[in-house]
Amino acid sequence: MGTPFRKCPDCGAHLDANETCDCRKPKQEERPAAVQPMKLVAICREVDRDTGRIAVYPLNVKIDGNVITQLQFRAKLNPELRYFTLTSGRWERYGDAITGILKRRTVSRADVDRIGGIVEL
Ligand SMILES: [Zn+2]
Repeated sequence: MGTPFRKCPDCGAHLDANETCDCRKPKQEERPAAVQPMKLVAICREVDRDTGRIAVYPLNVKIDGNVITQLQFRAKLNPELRYFTLTSGRWERYGDAITGILKRRTVSRADVDRIGGIVEL
């Protein structure tokens, strides 16, 4: 006398008579999509040495620790250059307003703090 069993009609697994197969249950391990790493944008504020004109533009680089160190170094060597970073989402939403503030003749650390969500490197 063998153990009575039946086959799951979906996956063919052998099951005890009263067992329900778990092949159609949602997977326990399904997790919400992985959290996206925060995407950062670096913004350069550059004062033209000859004309005094101020340009504010995003840099086309992927921000990581090395890039940040390089930009800090570059800003130290070139007083006409200042670098800031913020999330790309924030830049997309408030880029125009932030550009307006950074284009002012003087931008203190306090001014930057007041913008919020942006850090000078
Ligand atoms: Zn099954």
